[in-house]
Amino acid sequence: MPGGNLGPYVVLSVADGLSGIEVDTASETVVAGAGAVADAVDRAARSTLGRRLPFLPASAAWCRVGGLVANDSAGAGTFGHGATHGWVEAVRGVDARGNDVHLTREGTSSGPLAEAMGRLANHPTLSALAAERDPEGRLPGWPRVRKNSSGYALDRFLSNGSRGQPDALQLLVGSEGTLALITEVRFRTAPIPETRGVLLLPARGPDDLVALVLELEGAGAVACEMLGRRFLEITGLRHSGPAAPLARDAYALLLVEVEGTAPEVAAALDRCQALGQRYGGPGLRARSQAESDELWRLRKAASPIIARQARQGLLSTQFIEDCVVPVPALGRFLVELDRILEAARFDAVVFGHAGDGNIHVNPLVDVEAPDWHSRVRQALEAVADLVADLGGTLAGEHGDGRLRAPFLERIWGPRLAGAFREVKETLDPAGTLNPGVIVPLPGQDPLEGLSPRPRSHP
Ligand SMILES: Cc1cc2nc3c(=O)[nH]c(=O)nc-3n(C[C@H](O)[C@H](O)[C@H](O)COP(=O)(O)OP(=O)(O)OC[C@H]3O[C@@H](n4cnc5c(N)ncnc54)[C@H](O)[C@@H]3O)c2cc1C
Repeated sequence: MPGGNLGPYVVLSVADGLSGIEVDTASETVVAGAGAVADAVDRAARSTLGRRLPFLPASAAWCRVGGLVANDSAGAGTFGHGATHGWVEAVRGVDARGNDVHLTREGTSSGPLAEAMGRLANHPTLSALAAERDPEGRLPGWPRVRKNSSGYALDRFLSNGSRGQPDALQLLVGSEGTLALITEVRFRTAPIPETRGVLLLPARGPDDLVALVLELEGAGAVACEMLGRRFLEITGLRHSGPAAPLARDAYALLLVEVEGTAPEVAAALDRCQALGQRYGGPGLRARSQAESDELWRLRKAASPIIARQARQGLLSTQFIEDCVVPVPALGRFLVELDRILEAARFDAVVFGHAGDGNIHVNPLVDVEAPDWHSRVRQALEAVADLVADLGGTLAGEHGDGRLRAPFLERIWGPRLAGAFREVKETLDPAGTLNPGVIVPLPGQDPLEGLSPRPRSHP
């Protein structure tokens, strides 16, 4: 993904040699090497403990534990179960100077990085931020989004450590390889629910969509995924397939999942359908496991469509693909996004995690057109302004990488961007680890890594 794209630097692969997985039955945790594939960790938890990792991303079949934790990844289940950071019990790794790192949730962290993080919390910039938390514990200027993988997690670092200490583990999760190399992670696990239910609900317009999303969490939904207007058109779902009767006149469809015992699931689906009735209609309710899987396949239709478009000369391009805004601002985001895409003359596959206000926008770009690069820049700049205006961030789950780092100050404001720079300069003063990721280098161009074809680097 562009958020984690590579620069002209040394690439260190942890895929081989660090892929072991061990299950600890006493603590119901799983310890995995940074190179283990996320799905394999989940399978180990299921087969040995009868438990699961409910937060995994759609890329779980190939993404690795190191990237998962370094990006604070999330998935459809994050609406009900939170993102990766809530499931990490401990991390082992190596800091920029080659020292061992061991950070734990219960505050038994050790090593020079943990000590430096402890001192960092007392730096004037960070301690002033902590002192100005509002009554709900929010740092001044911190975005009111349900999930975020942009910047450093100062909110969690300064807020919820054990025994009132800064939470060093939480600062490392989501730090995108800029503070330490992760070698091993211990994950918590969750029970496997007895059953699940799936429902597809139409929303008549952007306001109905927002109102419905805001109510669905209270109704017991654990996933709340959006198939946007453009997605329905490009996929042809408006005219064929099981969703067509709903999709024909809908502004968007929401795919809702609930889980629990059979009576709990039936009651939650009733509640969600009653809400749906208010904002677009009762929708389509899966009556079996097979029907549930079929509805999920509609949501997963994005990848084959993107591949088909590529064969027609259009490349699905990820540069505004991970914006997150406060859920009440989601309708305005979608409406303004349409204007931006029209102005830049891009069609786009638009879908994502509506429940968390996190929308994936994949513009379909003709990279043979002479002005494609300037139109990409135009759309990126306009979306960054929009997201800043709505109080969101450019990354809900894919991280800043080198693409979004140059927007750090525009999105976060000078005070928080300055605090992020202080984190990096304190914990990796020589700038050894992932230079230009999260905190930009002087003059860094967001689009320097965006190329339709592999490029040779010196
Ligand atoms: C089709 C597709 C679907 C996706 N769906 C989702 C989704 O649903 N949710 C989601 O959150 N993301 C998604 N992603 C993005 C990405 O796959 C995930 O964020 C994933 O968890 C990252 O892991 P990775 O192995 O791909 O990491 P990489 O891309 O290899 O790395 C990501 C970042 O972490 C750093 N890093 C990697 N390993 C380590 C380590 N051991 N120590 C320190 N830093 C490290 C890298 O330097 C980089 O900055 C998707 C990507 C694709 C292509």
